[in-house]
Amino acid sequence: MGECMVELRTDEYSATSLHQSFAGDVYNSAVYLKRCFDDVFVGFVTVTGDDTFSHRMRKGFESESLDTSMVFTHPTRATGLYLIDTDDDGERSFTYWRSESAAKTIVSFLNVDVLNSLTSNDMFMFSGISIAIIPPDERVPFFNFIKALKNKGVKLVFDPNYRARLWTSLADAKANFEQALSLSDIALVGVEDMGELFGLASSDDVMELCQSHSVDEVVIKNGPSSVLTSLNGKYEEHVITPVSKVVDTTSAGDAFNGVYLGGRLQNLPISHCVSMAAKAAGTVIQHRGAIIPKGVVEATLEGVHKSTLASDLTT
Ligand code: ADP
Repeated sequence: MGECMVELRTDEYSATSLHQSFAGDVYNSAVYLKRCFDDVFVGFVTVTGDDTFSHRMRKGFESESLDTSMVFTHPTRATGLYLIDTDDDGERSFTYWRSESAAKTIVSFLNVDVLNSLTSNDMFMFSGISIAIIPPDERVPFFNFIKALKNKGVKLVFDPNYRARLWTSLADAKANFEQALSLSDIALVGVEDMGELFGLASSDDVMELCQSHSVDEVVIKNGPSSVLTSLNGKYEEHVITPVSKVVDTTSAGDAFNGVYLGGRLQNLPISHCVSMAAKAAGTVIQHRGAIIPKGVVEATLEGVHKSTLASDLTT
């Protein structure tokens, strides 16, 4: 569940043209999960408008084979939009138009029928951005909704994805993240986010925070350094091979999350899921944009995925 936005970015070759696509953290994860694990049913829960961009966005979801039965339509609001501008030195800046976006009204659509439909799924993923865009007075009903999902056996998956500008205060963000962590069955956490939020500097410190909130399965992402995981108290550190030519780190963590969860939904061991997820993320950062052309990540996983399954069968 999250917000997908219209993404505009300055064209590499022409200062007066803009390239348009769609992106948003949980949406990006859903796309990479479905692309790499076609057998898995993946739906996106969100609200769009009734405008031209919204219609195109919904078509975009369908072209990624995502289920759209939980894509609701707000009669008057439109989708959010952001611009990525790259200056002459290659430095990127982001400008957002999302304060009144349709996705912010998601809680008004989360009724009992939606709850019952969602309980047929194994997992429900949300992020710090999914929470941040919900008006503060609607967050209690949101947390009650996901608590009800959890009580019905759906695993809750959370990535804090802290974006300071979306929160009124650091204290508010921290309180919401702690509540989300306490409810989560799986936490996929970037060290950088937790540094800004809780002043934590290392994967071990972040792991300790997650453990203190009793999260069963924790994945700590630390850029090219390493990935630290724990499953029911069993810790593993995974080596990451740094990419020598990083083009754009947008959605590295999102791609990682999607592929990791796809692997876990196939009951693959954590270390195999991390190696596939890292390979996917390492591929995504060698291309521009959040969603890279279809087929690229899938191709890099071809061998890994097959050998993973083969080695599972032999162990
Ligand atoms: P998040 O965006 O969630 O904070 P990270 O920045 O840690 O996450 O990146 C997510 C994943 O992307 C990492 O765990 C790693 O697998 C991969 N990654 C990020 N930067 C690099 C890099 N320079 N080289 C190789 N892999 C990378």
